Amino acid sequence: MRLNPLNACANMKYKTGNNNQFRGCAFCQRMYDAKRCEEAVGITRIEDIISDIQLNMGKDSIEKTKKVIVLSGSPKSDLDYIAYLKNMHVNLKSHGFRGEFSVVTSLINSEKMIEELSYIDNSVFDFTLECFDRREELLGPEKGKSLEEVIKILRYAKMKFEMVRINYIVGLDSLESMGKNFQLLAEENLVDDVVANVLSTYSPQMKGIKNEEVNGPEYIYRAREILLDLGLKPRRTGVKKHLFLDEDFS
Ligand code: SF4
Repeated sequence: MRLNPLNACANMKYKTGNNNQFRGCAFCQRMYDAKRCEEAVGITRIEDIISDIQLNMGKDSIEKTKKVIVLSGSPKSDLDYIAYLKNMHVNLKSHGFRGEFSVVTSLINSEKMIEELSYIDNSVFDFTLECFDRREELLGPEKGKSLEEVIKILRYAKMKFEMVRINYIVGLDSLESMGKNFQLLAEENLVDDVVANVLSTYSPQMKGIKNEEVNGPEYIYRAREILLDLGLKPRRTGVKKHLFLDEDFS
């Protein structure tokens, strides 16, 4: 059993799993299959977060920060989320931040919002693609948009951003599907970097989501080869890629 964790995210309201038994992305450590009593959650203002960081890490810590990566929480809408991100960026800049600012999300997916995001910082579009097969079953109806829709999102992001980086979970797709679909992305040059993390299962129920081909290191080695053969060698961008951890492409 996995209880509803406190730090919720927007996708946890959706049912996932082959029997709709989960809430949230079926591979996520936040996914749950049993409710617990609601607890009050406060929102900390970005100004207070910055003050706290400066207090603990020094007055010039924001100025010295090279990268800020935001993970989406549970915004009311994409419009609200963009407003929140703008406010965060303005605040960081007012404290001397000059680094790279990106947002790991699938919530920003319309042309208008992708463009708005690019006005804040157009260095990296971080998209949570996660898997190619069983998308709605594993990710829910919103995040699990069809691959055709995902390709449209990536095409537009490619026009507006210097670099497109996707998150991918190794262990959900068949190797054939992984090869075929990464080739599709590579042919159109839609992806510059892949954050490939290996699936971990946190409960017996989660084991059922693993692709049946996963039965040891062979699958992992083949998955690595697929990415390397397509020229999707991970970049050293400071983001951990578990599939290549031994080569330290962080
Ligand atoms: S993977 Fe991300 S979007 Fe999905 S449930 Fe976990 S935190 Fe939410």
